[in-house]
Amino acid sequence: MGRPLIAGNWKMNGRVADGRLLAEEIAQRMHRARETDEPQLPECDLLVCPPFTLLETVHRALAGSGVALGAQDCHPAASGAHTGDISAAMLADLGCSHVIVGHSERRHDHGEGDALVRAKAEAALAEGLVPVVCVGETAAERDAGRALAVVTGQLAGSLPESFEPERLVLAYEPVWAIGTGKTATPADAAEVHQAIRGALAARFGAGAAAAVRILYGGSVKPENAAELLRAPEVDGALVGGASLKSDDFWRIAQAA
Ligand code: 13P
Repeated sequence: MGRPLIAGNWKMNGRVADGRLLAEEIAQRMHRARETDEPQLPECDLLVCPPFTLLETVHRALAGSGVALGAQDCHPAASGAHTGDISAAMLADLGCSHVIVGHSERRHDHGEGDALVRAKAEAALAEGLVPVVCVGETAAERDAGRALAVVTGQLAGSLPESFEPERLVLAYEPVWAIGTGKTATPADAAEVHQAIRGALAARFGAGAAAAVRILYGGSVKPENAAELLRAPEVDGALVGGASLKSDDFWRIAQAA
């Protein structure tokens, strides 16, 4: 496995002062770790994805820390008459290197389907951003024994036609594990990640499949991070609630 990625998805949380403080706390830990080796520098890449309103503030607070900045969504078009939307070019302009697309909350709240997610991922790539493409089954789909079929189906529809494998990240987030305190077992996560890796290999070749990082997301906490991150084919975590506390986010990073 390559270097893991620990990503924080702040979702719709935080006023400017909160975002600044959280980002400053993370940056300070990184600076201190670099200068004193105590605490140790995490052996992973770090990414935070605040809401649009905090991107500029967080970008400033993270300057020089080595922590990457991402957004939580983008529009597929580069510009134009799309009231309330934000394009990938605007995100790149603000200092983002990543953007989450196809999160289950957007699929659910905004009726986003695979074709739109794919268009967003392609827009992100066109602007030099790394798309973090999310897939995951609901509880009903898992109970019906359809988890692997649903996830590989979403994958087939949501991925761009071609991409550099190092410049795309996948996130497996079972919907029933998001914000519920329930996590997939390491074995369940490994099974789905393996299926994703297999589908990638069949479509893009084994080399590309091995180079794409596949994150697990869904109630990742400091207490369960180490065992989830040790599961086969798990290359990192996409963390929601626990990324809103710098201490928890840092402990998860230390577990990677
Ligand atoms: P929680 O970690 O709060 O379950 O959220 C996971 C998630 O949706 C990250 O994108």
